[in-house]
Amino acid sequence: MRFSIKLLAGLHANYPSASCTLDHRSPLELLVATILSAQCTDERVNRLTKDLFRKYRKASDYVRVPREELELDIRPSGFFRNKARSIAAACEAIMDRHGGKVPDRMDDLIQLAGVGRKTANVLLGSWFGKPAITVDTHVKRLSGRMGLTHQTDPVQIERDLMRILPDGEWTFFSHSMILHGRQVCKARRPGCEDCFLVDDCPFPGSSEGKKFISPK
Ligand code: SF4
Repeated sequence: MRFSIKLLAGLHANYPSASCTLDHRSPLELLVATILSAQCTDERVNRLTKDLFRKYRKASDYVRVPREELELDIRPSGFFRNKARSIAAACEAIMDRHGGKVPDRMDDLIQLAGVGRKTANVLLGSWFGKPAITVDTHVKRLSGRMGLTHQTDPVQIERDLMRILPDGEWTFFSHSMILHGRQVCKARRPGCEDCFLVDDCPFPGSSEGKKFISPK
């Protein structure tokens, strides 16, 4: 518990305005951008959605357009056929079951094609203002290194994190951990020497961690 308090204080001090880095002005735009961000950088998605969101404004726009055209429009994000299928199917369900509006409940969101808990939590936390922990690759890696969880399954990790963090911090925690993972605690080589947690994080001293610290 003491560690999680120190961690939160450090995250607030180092990433005071951490927030979603996918550009969006509506829940539909955030949903589409999140689907596009799989295996793609947020920067690339933001470049792509600048024009995409000018062309596609409503859920029905993604459904009515020929699939090949949507694929072409999102091609730079990679895996464009799967993503186009997911976006079109999710938008169809949004029209059929939710009157064209993106639902704001986890149970409804995860029924949409291409929407798992991760994407649903992005929507809940970053648009609907509900406490939500997004377990992406950074949150998963860092939570393990920091000893916040011993689980590897994202749903179990989310549960562990929900248990030890106050719900008012969940959304901020996800955004700031993602930034910390991108900037400091990188996958290939964590920058422990420059990290505010170096004295408390179990990772640098663990047998796995030692190999990342170059001998002086
Ligand atoms: S001390 Fe190292 S392993 Fe721990 S959070 Fe910081 S960079 Fe990551």
